[in-house]
Amino acid sequence: MNEYKHIKNQDNDLYEALIGEEKREEKGVELIPSENYVSQAVREANGSILTNKYAEGYPGRRYYGGQDFTDAVERLAIERACELFGAKYANVQPLGGAAANMAMYFALMEPGDTVLGMDLSHGGHLTHGHPTTWINKIFNFVRYKMKDVETGEIDYDELRKVAIENKPKIILAGFSAYSRELDYQKFVDIAKEVGAYTVADMAHIAGLIAGDVVKNPFDYGFDVITTTTHKTLRGPRGGMILTRESEEIAKKIDKAVFPGIQGGPHMHIIAAKAVAFGEALHPSFKDYAGQILKNAKAMEKVFKDADIRLLGGGTDNHLLLADVYGSLGITGEEAEVALDEVGITLNKNMIANDTRKALDPSGIRFGTPAMTTRGMKEAEATKLAELMIETMKNKDDADKKAEIKKVVEELCTKFPVPDSFV
Ligand SMILES: *Cc1c(COP(=O)(O)O)cnc(C)c1O
Repeated sequence: MNEYKHIKNQDNDLYEALIGEEKREEKGVELIPSENYVSQAVREANGSILTNKYAEGYPGRRYYGGQDFTDAVERLAIERACELFGAKYANVQPLGGAAANMAMYFALMEPGDTVLGMDLSHGGHLTHGHPTTWINKIFNFVRYKMKDVETGEIDYDELRKVAIENKPKIILAGFSAYSRELDYQKFVDIAKEVGAYTVADMAHIAGLIAGDVVKNPFDYGFDVITTTTHKTLRGPRGGMILTRESEEIAKKIDKAVFPGIQGGPHMHIIAAKAVAFGEALHPSFKDYAGQILKNAKAMEKVFKDADIRLLGGGTDNHLLLADVYGSLGITGEEAEVALDEVGITLNKNMIANDTRKALDPSGIRFGTPAMTTRGMKEAEATKLAELMIETMKNKDDADKKAEIKKVVEELCTKFPVPDSFV
Protein backbone atom coordinates (compact mmCIF):
# COMPACT_ATOMS: atom_id res chain seq x y z
CA MET A 1 0.00 0.00 0.00
CA ASN A 2 1.24 3.49 -0.78
CA GLU A 3 1.39 6.14 1.89
CA TYR A 4 0.45 9.17 -0.21
CA LYS A 5 1.91 11.21 2.63
CA HIS A 6 1.63 14.61 0.96
CA ILE A 7 -1.80 14.04 -0.52
CA LYS A 8 -3.03 12.97 2.89
CA ASN A 9 -1.77 16.22 4.42
CA GLN A 10 -3.23 18.58 1.87
CA ASP A 11 -6.21 16.89 0.20
CA ASN A 12 -8.13 14.43 2.28
CA ASP A 13 -11.01 13.91 -0.14
CA LEU A 14 -8.68 12.75 -2.83
CA TYR A 15 -6.69 10.70 -0.34
CA GLU A 16 -9.77 8.74 0.62
CA ALA A 17 -10.62 7.97 -2.98
CA LEU A 18 -7.09 6.71 -3.60
CA ILE A 19 -7.09 4.50 -0.54
CA GLY A 20 -10.50 3.18 -1.55
CA GLU A 21 -9.13 2.16 -4.93
CA GLU A 22 -6.04 0.57 -3.35
CA LYS A 23 -8.27 -1.58 -1.17
CA ARG A 24 -10.56 -2.47 -4.06
CA GLU A 25 -7.60 -3.63 -6.13
CA GLU A 26 -6.16 -5.69 -3.26
CA LYS A 27 -9.38 -7.35 -2.17
CA GLY A 28 -10.93 -8.30 -5.47
CA VAL A 29 -9.85 -10.34 -8.45
CA GLU A 30 -9.33 -8.33 -11.61
CA LEU A 31 -10.44 -10.29 -14.65
CA ILE A 32 -10.90 -7.40 -17.07
CA PRO A 33 -8.54 -8.60 -19.82
CA SER A 34 -7.32 -5.09 -20.65
CA GLU A 35 -6.17 -4.33 -17.10
CA ASN A 36 -3.09 -5.20 -15.12
CA TYR A 37 -1.02 -4.25 -12.06
CA VAL A 38 2.21 -2.37 -12.71
CA SER A 39 5.38 -2.60 -10.62
CA GLN A 40 6.41 0.00 -8.07
CA ALA A 41 9.27 0.93 -10.41
CA VAL A 42 6.79 1.78 -13.16
CA ARG A 43 4.79 3.81 -10.65
CA GLU A 44 7.85 5.68 -9.44
CA ALA A 45 8.71 6.71 -12.99
CA ASN A 46 5.06 7.58 -13.60
CA GLY A 47 5.08 9.84 -10.57
CA SER A 48 8.46 11.37 -11.31
CA ILE A 49 9.50 14.99 -11.84
CA LEU A 50 9.55 14.41 -15.59
CA THR A 51 5.94 15.58 -15.52
CA ASN A 52 7.43 19.08 -15.20
CA LYS A 53 9.12 19.07 -18.58
CA TYR A 54 8.02 20.14 -22.04
CA ALA A 55 9.79 18.09 -24.71
CA GLU A 56 7.94 18.74 -27.97
CA GLY A 57 9.78 17.06 -30.81
CA TYR A 58 11.97 13.98 -30.69
CA PRO A 59 15.36 13.13 -29.11
CA GLY A 60 18.01 15.46 -30.55
CA ARG A 61 15.36 17.64 -32.26
CA ARG A 62 13.31 19.42 -29.60
CA TYR A 63 11.55 22.77 -29.53
CA TYR A 64 12.60 23.63 -25.96
CA GLY A 65 15.95 23.60 -24.16
CA GLY A 66 17.07 21.50 -21.23
CA GLN A 67 16.57 18.13 -22.88
CA ASP A 68 19.66 16.13 -21.88
CA PHE A 69 17.75 13.81 -19.62
CA THR A 70 14.45 13.65 -21.49
CA ASP A 71 16.40 12.62 -24.59
CA ALA A 72 18.09 9.87 -22.61
CA VAL A 73 14.75 8.67 -21.25
CA GLU A 74 12.99 8.60 -24.61
CA ARG A 75 15.93 6.89 -26.33
CA LEU A 76 15.88 4.15 -23.70
CA ALA A 77 12.17 3.58 -24.25
CA ILE A 78 12.62 3.49 -28.04
CA GLU A 79 15.60 1.11 -27.96
CA ARG A 80 13.86 -1.29 -25.62
CA ALA A 81 10.61 -1.22 -27.58
CA CYS A 82 12.45 -2.03 -30.81
CA GLU A 83 14.29 -4.90 -29.17
CA LEU A 84 11.13 -6.32 -27.63
CA PHE A 85 9.14 -6.44 -30.86
CA GLY A 86 11.81 -6.75 -33.55
CA ALA A 87 11.09 -3.29 -34.95
CA LYS A 88 13.48 -0.79 -36.50
CA TYR A 89 11.54 2.31 -35.38
CA ALA A 90 9.31 3.11 -32.43
CA ASN A 91 7.28 6.16 -31.53
CA VAL A 92 6.65 6.01 -27.78
CA GLN A 93 4.77 9.30 -27.48
CA PRO A 94 1.12 8.35 -28.17
CA LEU A 95 -0.97 9.09 -25.09
CA GLY A 96 -3.00 5.93 -25.47
CA GLY A 97 -4.07 3.24 -27.88
CA ALA A 98 -6.73 5.46 -29.44
CA ALA A 99 -4.20 8.24 -30.05
CA ALA A 100 -1.75 5.73 -31.53
CA ASN A 101 -4.40 4.53 -33.96
CA MET A 102 -5.43 8.05 -34.87
CA ALA A 103 -1.84 9.01 -35.67
CA MET A 104 -1.36 5.79 -37.65
CA TYR A 105 -4.45 6.51 -39.78
CA PHE A 106 -3.31 10.08 -40.44
CA ALA A 107 0.21 8.93 -41.28
CA LEU A 108 -0.83 6.35 -43.85
CA MET A 109 -3.99 7.82 -45.39
CA GLU A 110 -5.71 10.90 -46.80
CA PRO A 111 -9.26 11.77 -45.68
CA GLY A 112 -11.75 9.59 -47.53
CA ASP A 113 -9.38 6.63 -47.84
CA THR A 114 -10.51 3.18 -46.83
CA VAL A 115 -9.53 0.85 -43.97
CA LEU A 116 -10.41 -2.82 -43.95
CA GLY A 117 -10.75 -3.90 -40.32
CA MET A 118 -12.40 -6.53 -38.17
CA ASP A 119 -16.12 -6.18 -37.67
CA LEU A 120 -16.75 -4.49 -34.34
CA SER A 121 -19.32 -7.07 -33.25
CA HIS A 122 -16.80 -9.81 -34.06
CA GLY A 123 -14.09 -8.41 -31.80
CA GLY A 124 -12.79 -5.19 -33.40
CA HIS A 125 -12.19 -2.06 -31.30
CA LEU A 126 -14.07 1.26 -31.15
CA THR A 127 -11.05 2.98 -32.70
CA HIS A 128 -11.44 0.79 -35.78
CA GLY A 129 -14.14 3.08 -37.08
CA HIS A 130 -17.12 2.80 -34.77
CA PRO A 131 -19.96 5.00 -36.11
CA THR A 132 -19.85 7.19 -32.98
CA THR A 133 -16.18 8.15 -33.47
CA TRP A 134 -14.71 11.16 -35.25
CA ILE A 135 -12.36 8.87 -37.20
CA ASN A 136 -15.41 7.27 -38.79
CA LYS A 137 -16.36 10.62 -40.34
CA ILE A 138 -12.91 11.07 -41.88
CA PHE A 139 -12.13 7.64 -43.26
CA ASN A 140 -14.17 4.89 -44.83
CA PHE A 141 -14.29 1.59 -42.96
CA VAL A 142 -15.13 -1.77 -44.49
CA ARG A 143 -15.19 -5.05 -42.58
CA TYR A 144 -14.22 -8.67 -42.39
CA LYS A 145 -15.79 -11.17 -40.01
CA MET A 146 -15.44 -14.65 -38.63
CA LYS A 147 -16.46 -17.39 -41.01
CA ASP A 148 -17.48 -19.61 -38.13
CA VAL A 149 -18.32 -18.09 -34.76
CA GLU A 150 -17.88 -21.47 -33.08
CA THR A 151 -14.23 -21.85 -34.16
CA GLY A 152 -13.35 -18.17 -34.48
CA GLU A 153 -11.83 -18.69 -37.91
CA ILE A 154 -11.74 -15.49 -39.95
CA ASP A 155 -13.36 -15.60 -43.38
CA TYR A 156 -10.21 -14.95 -45.40
CA ASP A 157 -11.95 -15.48 -48.76
CA GLU A 158 -14.42 -12.76 -47.86
CA LEU A 159 -11.58 -10.57 -46.56
CA ARG A 160 -9.81 -10.89 -49.92
CA LYS A 161 -13.02 -10.19 -51.83
CA VAL A 162 -13.78 -7.05 -49.81
CA ALA A 163 -10.16 -5.94 -50.23
CA ILE A 164 -10.26 -6.34 -54.00
CA GLU A 165 -13.60 -4.51 -54.23
CA ASN A 166 -12.72 -1.61 -51.91
CA LYS A 167 -8.99 -1.13 -52.43
CA PRO A 168 -8.23 -0.19 -48.82
CA LYS A 169 -5.08 1.76 -47.97
CA ILE A 170 -4.78 -0.18 -44.72
CA ILE A 171 -5.66 -3.73 -43.81
CA LEU A 172 -5.98 -3.78 -40.05
CA ALA A 173 -5.53 -6.90 -37.94
CA GLY A 174 -6.34 -6.55 -34.28
CA PHE A 175 -9.07 -6.81 -31.74
CA SER A 176 -10.18 -6.30 -28.20
CA ALA A 177 -12.69 -9.13 -27.91
CA TYR A 178 -11.35 -12.05 -29.91
CA SER A 179 -9.63 -15.09 -28.48
CA ARG A 180 -7.94 -16.80 -31.42
CA GLU A 181 -4.70 -16.38 -33.37
CA LEU A 182 -4.94 -14.62 -36.71
CA ASP A 183 -3.34 -15.97 -39.88
CA TYR A 184 -1.04 -12.97 -40.43
CA GLN A 185 0.45 -14.45 -43.60
CA LYS A 186 -2.96 -14.31 -45.27
CA PHE A 187 -3.32 -10.62 -44.32
CA VAL A 188 0.09 -9.85 -45.81
CA ASP A 189 -0.61 -11.79 -49.01
CA ILE A 190 -3.94 -10.04 -49.57
CA ALA A 191 -2.44 -6.62 -48.78
CA LYS A 192 0.29 -7.21 -51.36
CA GLU A 193 -2.32 -8.11 -53.93
CA VAL A 194 -4.26 -4.86 -53.43
CA GLY A 195 -1.36 -2.55 -52.52
CA ALA A 196 -2.39 -1.88 -48.91
CA TYR A 197 -0.34 -1.32 -45.78
CA THR A 198 -0.63 -4.00 -43.12
CA VAL A 199 -1.17 -2.72 -39.60
CA ALA A 200 -1.68 -4.84 -36.50
CA ASP A 201 -3.38 -3.22 -33.50
CA MET A 202 -1.88 -5.40 -30.79
CA ALA A 203 -3.20 -3.37 -27.85
CA HIS A 204 -4.44 -6.46 -26.06
CA ILE A 205 -1.74 -8.97 -26.85
CA ALA A 206 1.45 -6.86 -26.93
CA GLY A 207 2.71 -8.53 -23.75
CA LEU A 208 2.03 -11.96 -25.20
CA ILE A 209 4.02 -11.04 -28.31
CA ALA A 210 6.82 -9.57 -26.21
CA GLY A 211 6.84 -12.78 -24.15
CA ASP A 212 6.97 -14.91 -27.33
CA VAL A 213 3.87 -16.92 -26.57
CA VAL A 214 1.77 -15.74 -29.52
CA LYS A 215 2.83 -14.87 -33.05
CA ASN A 216 4.48 -11.56 -33.88
CA PRO A 217 2.89 -9.92 -36.95
CA PHE A 218 6.30 -8.47 -37.88
CA ASP A 219 7.57 -12.02 -38.50
CA TYR A 220 5.07 -12.17 -41.37
CA GLY A 221 6.03 -8.82 -42.85
CA PHE A 222 3.46 -6.47 -41.29
CA ASP A 223 4.42 -2.82 -41.81
CA VAL A 224 3.23 -1.29 -38.56
CA ILE A 225 2.09 -2.30 -35.08
CA THR A 226 0.06 0.01 -32.86
CA THR A 227 -0.45 -0.88 -29.24
CA THR A 228 -1.27 0.24 -25.76
CA THR A 229 1.40 -0.20 -23.10
CA HIS A 230 -0.87 -0.85 -20.12
CA LYS A 231 -2.63 -4.11 -20.94
CA THR A 232 -0.69 -7.41 -21.15
CA LEU A 233 2.53 -5.39 -21.57
CA ARG A 234 2.10 -4.28 -17.94
CA GLY A 235 3.35 -0.73 -18.32
CA PRO A 236 1.89 2.71 -17.68
CA ARG A 237 -1.31 3.84 -19.39
CA GLY A 238 -0.22 4.87 -22.87
CA GLY A 239 0.30 3.96 -26.50
CA MET A 240 3.06 3.23 -28.99
CA ILE A 241 3.58 2.79 -32.73
CA LEU A 242 6.23 0.43 -34.10
CA THR A 243 7.47 0.32 -37.68
CA ARG A 244 9.14 -2.88 -38.82
CA GLU A 245 11.63 -1.48 -41.32
CA SER A 246 10.45 1.41 -43.52
CA GLU A 247 12.09 4.71 -42.62
CA GLU A 248 9.57 6.48 -44.85
CA ILE A 249 6.64 5.10 -42.84
CA ALA A 250 8.39 5.81 -39.53
CA LYS A 251 8.91 9.46 -40.53
CA LYS A 252 5.26 9.84 -41.49
CA ILE A 253 4.24 8.36 -38.15
CA ASP A 254 6.51 10.69 -36.17
CA LYS A 255 5.00 13.69 -37.96
CA ALA A 256 1.47 12.44 -37.46
CA VAL A 257 2.00 12.02 -33.69
CA PHE A 258 3.72 15.39 -33.28
CA PRO A 259 2.75 17.94 -34.45
CA GLY A 260 -0.09 16.07 -36.20
CA ILE A 261 -2.31 15.25 -33.28
CA GLN A 262 -0.38 15.75 -30.02
CA GLY A 263 1.55 18.49 -28.25
CA GLY A 264 4.19 17.89 -25.61
CA PRO A 265 4.91 14.24 -24.87
CA HIS A 266 4.22 12.99 -21.36
CA MET A 267 7.82 12.34 -20.41
CA HIS A 268 6.97 10.79 -17.04
CA ILE A 269 4.87 8.19 -18.83
CA ILE A 270 7.61 7.62 -21.39
CA ALA A 271 10.01 7.00 -18.50
CA ALA A 272 7.54 4.50 -17.06
CA LYS A 273 7.28 2.86 -20.50
CA ALA A 274 11.07 2.48 -20.52
CA VAL A 275 10.92 0.79 -17.11
CA ALA A 276 8.11 -1.56 -18.20
CA PHE A 277 9.90 -2.47 -21.45
CA GLY A 278 13.00 -3.24 -19.39
CA GLU A 279 10.88 -5.57 -17.25
CA ALA A 280 9.42 -7.21 -20.35
CA LEU A 281 12.93 -7.85 -21.68
CA HIS A 282 13.76 -9.72 -18.48
CA PRO A 283 13.64 -13.54 -18.92
CA SER A 284 10.95 -13.82 -16.21
CA PHE A 285 8.49 -11.99 -18.48
CA LYS A 286 8.34 -15.02 -20.80
CA ASP A 287 7.23 -17.14 -17.84
CA TYR A 288 4.62 -14.53 -17.00
CA ALA A 289 3.27 -14.48 -20.56
CA GLY A 290 3.22 -18.28 -20.69
CA GLN A 291 1.35 -18.46 -17.40
CA ILE A 292 -1.29 -16.02 -18.69
CA LEU A 293 -2.09 -18.52 -21.45
CA LYS A 294 -2.05 -21.53 -19.11
CA ASN A 295 -4.45 -19.77 -16.74
CA ALA A 296 -6.78 -18.86 -19.60
CA LYS A 297 -6.77 -22.49 -20.75
CA ALA A 298 -7.59 -23.65 -17.21
CA MET A 299 -10.60 -21.32 -17.16
CA GLU A 300 -11.61 -22.46 -20.63
CA LYS A 301 -11.74 -26.06 -19.41
CA VAL A 302 -14.07 -25.25 -16.51
CA PHE A 303 -16.45 -23.32 -18.77
CA LYS A 304 -16.44 -26.04 -21.40
CA ASP A 305 -17.02 -28.77 -18.82
CA ALA A 306 -20.02 -26.75 -17.60
CA ASP A 307 -21.33 -26.59 -21.18
CA ILE A 308 -21.11 -22.81 -21.37
CA ARG A 309 -20.71 -21.59 -24.91
CA LEU A 310 -17.41 -19.83 -25.58
CA LEU A 311 -17.14 -17.63 -28.64
CA GLY A 312 -14.51 -18.96 -31.00
CA GLY A 313 -14.78 -22.28 -29.16
CA GLY A 314 -12.09 -21.34 -26.64
CA THR A 315 -8.94 -19.31 -26.45
CA ASP A 316 -5.40 -19.03 -27.83
CA ASN A 317 -4.64 -15.89 -25.85
CA HIS A 318 -5.41 -14.23 -22.53
CA LEU A 319 -9.15 -13.74 -22.88
CA LEU A 320 -12.43 -15.58 -23.12
CA LEU A 321 -15.85 -14.52 -24.28
CA ALA A 322 -18.75 -16.51 -22.88
CA ASP A 323 -22.34 -16.51 -24.06
CA VAL A 324 -23.83 -16.53 -20.57
CA TYR A 325 -27.30 -15.53 -21.77
CA GLY A 326 -27.48 -18.41 -24.22
CA SER A 327 -26.00 -20.92 -21.78
CA LEU A 328 -27.21 -19.87 -18.32
CA GLY A 329 -30.08 -17.48 -19.02
CA ILE A 330 -28.31 -14.64 -17.20
CA THR A 331 -27.61 -11.42 -19.14
CA GLY A 332 -24.12 -9.93 -19.44
CA GLU A 333 -25.17 -7.02 -17.24
CA GLU A 334 -26.64 -9.27 -14.56
CA ALA A 335 -23.49 -11.40 -14.59
CA GLU A 336 -21.22 -8.35 -14.32
CA VAL A 337 -23.18 -7.03 -11.33
CA ALA A 338 -23.41 -10.38 -9.49
CA LEU A 339 -19.71 -11.07 -10.01
CA ASP A 340 -18.80 -7.58 -8.85
CA GLU A 341 -20.69 -8.31 -5.63
CA VAL A 342 -18.43 -11.29 -4.90
CA GLY A 343 -15.25 -9.35 -5.72
CA ILE A 344 -14.67 -10.58 -9.26
CA THR A 345 -14.39 -7.74 -11.76
CA LEU A 346 -14.99 -8.29 -15.47
CA ASN A 347 -17.09 -6.74 -18.20
CA LYS A 348 -20.24 -7.50 -20.08
CA ASN A 349 -19.67 -7.75 -23.80
CA MET A 350 -21.59 -8.10 -27.03
CA ILE A 351 -21.04 -11.42 -28.75
CA ALA A 352 -21.07 -12.00 -32.50
CA ASN A 353 -24.64 -11.96 -33.85
CA ASP A 354 -25.90 -10.84 -30.44
CA THR A 355 -29.68 -10.74 -30.09
CA ARG A 356 -29.36 -8.32 -27.16
CA LYS A 357 -28.24 -4.67 -26.88
CA ALA A 358 -24.81 -3.24 -25.96
CA LEU A 359 -25.86 -2.06 -22.49
CA ASP A 360 -27.21 -5.48 -21.58
CA PRO A 361 -25.65 -7.95 -23.99
CA SER A 362 -25.48 -11.74 -24.01
CA GLY A 363 -21.85 -12.12 -23.12
CA ILE A 364 -19.11 -11.53 -20.61
CA ARG A 365 -15.44 -11.00 -21.45
CA PHE A 366 -12.74 -11.94 -18.99
CA GLY A 367 -9.05 -12.69 -18.96
CA THR A 368 -6.00 -13.62 -16.95
CA PRO A 369 -3.25 -10.94 -17.24
CA ALA A 370 -3.90 -9.25 -13.88
CA MET A 371 -4.56 -12.38 -11.79
CA THR A 372 -1.41 -13.91 -13.26
CA THR A 373 0.56 -10.85 -12.15
CA ARG A 374 -0.56 -11.67 -8.59
CA GLY A 375 1.11 -15.05 -8.96
CA MET A 376 -2.04 -17.12 -9.40
CA LYS A 377 -1.65 -20.30 -11.43
CA GLU A 378 -3.88 -22.99 -12.95
CA ALA A 379 -5.29 -24.15 -9.60
CA GLU A 380 -6.48 -20.64 -8.75
CA ALA A 381 -7.73 -20.02 -12.31
CA THR A 382 -9.78 -23.21 -12.10
CA LYS A 383 -11.14 -22.23 -8.70
CA LEU A 384 -12.06 -18.74 -9.91
CA ALA A 385 -13.84 -20.08 -12.99
CA GLU A 386 -15.84 -22.43 -10.77
CA LEU A 387 -16.73 -19.55 -8.43
CA MET A 388 -17.80 -17.44 -11.40
CA ILE A 389 -20.18 -20.10 -12.64
CA GLU A 390 -21.53 -20.71 -9.14
CA THR A 391 -22.15 -16.97 -8.74
CA MET A 392 -23.93 -16.69 -12.07
CA LYS A 393 -26.11 -19.68 -11.29
CA ASN A 394 -27.02 -18.18 -7.89
CA LYS A 395 -27.17 -14.53 -8.83
CA ASP A 396 -30.14 -13.81 -6.54
CA ASP A 397 -28.94 -15.80 -3.53
CA ALA A 398 -27.43 -13.26 -1.12
CA ASP A 399 -26.12 -15.88 1.34
CA LYS A 400 -24.41 -17.83 -1.38
CA LYS A 401 -22.83 -14.66 -2.76
CA ALA A 402 -21.59 -13.65 0.71
CA GLU A 403 -19.99 -17.08 1.03
CA ILE A 404 -18.28 -16.80 -2.36
CA LYS A 405 -17.11 -13.28 -1.60
CA LYS A 406 -15.27 -14.63 1.45
CA VAL A 407 -13.55 -17.31 -0.60
CA VAL A 408 -12.48 -14.69 -3.17
CA GLU A 409 -11.09 -12.43 -0.43
CA GLU A 410 -9.14 -15.29 1.12
CA LEU A 411 -7.65 -16.11 -2.26
CA CYS A 412 -6.65 -12.47 -2.76
CA THR A 413 -5.03 -12.30 0.67
CA LYS A 414 -2.86 -15.26 -0.32
CA PHE A 415 -1.82 -13.52 -3.54
CA PRO A 416 -1.03 -9.88 -2.82
CA VAL A 417 -0.07 -7.66 -5.74
CA PRO A 418 3.75 -7.85 -5.87
CA ASP A 419 5.92 -4.72 -5.80
CA SER A 420 8.40 -5.97 -8.35
CA PHE A 421 8.67 -8.65 -11.03
CA VAL A 422 12.37 -8.82 -11.83
C1 LIG B 1 -7.64 -0.85 -25.62
C2 LIG B 1 -7.56 -0.78 -27.10
C3 LIG B 1 -7.35 0.45 -27.76
C4 LIG B 1 -7.45 1.78 -27.06
O1 LIG B 1 -6.54 2.04 -26.11
P1 LIG B 1 -6.76 3.31 -25.11
O2 LIG B 1 -5.45 3.38 -24.41
O3 LIG B 1 -7.90 2.98 -24.24
O4 LIG B 1 -7.00 4.51 -25.96
C5 LIG B 1 -7.18 0.42 -29.13
N1 LIG B 1 -7.22 -0.73 -29.82
C6 LIG B 1 -7.46 -1.92 -29.22
C7 LIG B 1 -7.49 -3.16 -30.05
C8 LIG B 1 -7.65 -1.98 -27.84
O5 LIG B 1 -7.89 -3.15 -27.27
